[in-house]
Amino acid sequence: MEQRVTRLGTNGLPEAFQQVDLAALAAREGTPLYVYAAPAIRERVRGLREALAGLDAGIRYAVKANGNGAVLRLLAEEGAGADIVSGGELQRALRAGIAAADIVFSGVGKSDAEIALALEVGIGRFNIESRAELDAIQRIAAARGDRAVASVRINPDVDAQTHAKISTGKAENKFGVSIDEARAWFAAKAQWPDVQLDGLHMHIGSQLLSLDPVREALARMAAFWKELDAAGHAIASIDVGGGLGVRYREGEHAPDAREYADAIARALAGFRGRILVEPGRWLVAEAGLVLTRAMLEKHGEQRSFLVLDAAMNDLLRPSLYDAWHDIVRIGGADGRDATTYDVVGPVCETGDTFATGRTLPRCEAGDLVAILGAGAYAASMGSTYNSRPLPAEVMVDGARYAVVRRRQSLEEMLGGEQPATDWKTP
Ligand SMILES: *Cc1c(COP(=O)(O)O)cnc(C)c1O
Repeated sequence: MEQRVTRLGTNGLPEAFQQVDLAALAAREGTPLYVYAAPAIRERVRGLREALAGLDAGIRYAVKANGNGAVLRLLAEEGAGADIVSGGELQRALRAGIAAADIVFSGVGKSDAEIALALEVGIGRFNIESRAELDAIQRIAAARGDRAVASVRINPDVDAQTHAKISTGKAENKFGVSIDEARAWFAAKAQWPDVQLDGLHMHIGSQLLSLDPVREALARMAAFWKELDAAGHAIASIDVGGGLGVRYREGEHAPDAREYADAIARALAGFRGRILVEPGRWLVAEAGLVLTRAMLEKHGEQRSFLVLDAAMNDLLRPSLYDAWHDIVRIGGADGRDATTYDVVGPVCETGDTFATGRTLPRCEAGDLVAILGAGAYAASMGSTYNSRPLPAEVMVDGARYAVVRRRQSLEEMLGGEQPATDWKTP
């Protein structure tokens, strides 16, 4: 699949947002507002499916990227399963109509209750990250009279060449186990009679803009699969994880689905089991934006600030990862002078900065601004810090839109709190 040119020159917005009147949408639903474009998500998932068509491969969408039920439903309709990392994500996936058999459970800390729930609903596969977890799954499966199907998450010790906070496949990271440790598990697998240990898993990091680290990790996985196979341990599933990067910045080059599928096909040539892929960001990031209003301009002694009504609690990535997001004034330049701003939110943190020294058309209070690339790791990382209720989320499809999560009310935000009057002894 060719990398589609998703930005249009005229107003700087992705194609899937061209037909909807964002100004009218903001007036009706308020700001800040997450806006997801259904056609853009469909295009990505179909593109990936097509690219993988020659392989016996399944998509397991990483729910943590964007767990909104409408997004999950759309992906489920397109045939995607789910990769989950908590009981909450498991429930979300099931409620969105994803079959338990099409769900894999990753994560370094699965509680007994989460493991039991996963067994109860008949989850497809556990991706096991430690010996303690393997023991726990054995214990819980045996007690239930169940059998767990599982893969070992390998830490292939490769440098994913991405931000340190989203690099997960180096030996020093908390994720997965070494090939040596995994080898010992397979050799001793009779110790875990209620765990069907017949798969390999990896996930080396996120926002990978080069496929070289993926190729390197795949080569290590493939060599290990062949070694296990030769030792009589049949491998039924190889899960290559997620991590495919997207274009957050005009001009940035992200790998495309065909290149990715090709890397997988080459590395795993001859493998007769099922291949799983776990993309999150790649499927949804560019399909979302945060629609926000300029509250005011502030000219400091050294810098000019544009204060938006969105903040770090709505989109944490710039604060957490120094991430770049393209920012577009709705309505374009409209004859205004170019102005260089630090684009910030109202939260009381210097880190509440979306962009530093960004040149935009001069913005006035009330102007609408879109922060692009906010379909992944935006709403799902949201918080109510500074007592800011969670924004609404809407999905657009052509000129239409549907609210897929209403704006949180003050009552909902404060709902669980109570005065310390009901004192008990634990
Ligand atoms: C986060 C995660 C993914 C998805 O990562 P993306 O970069 O969003 O594709 C896939 N698998 C596992 C195990 C993860 O933790």
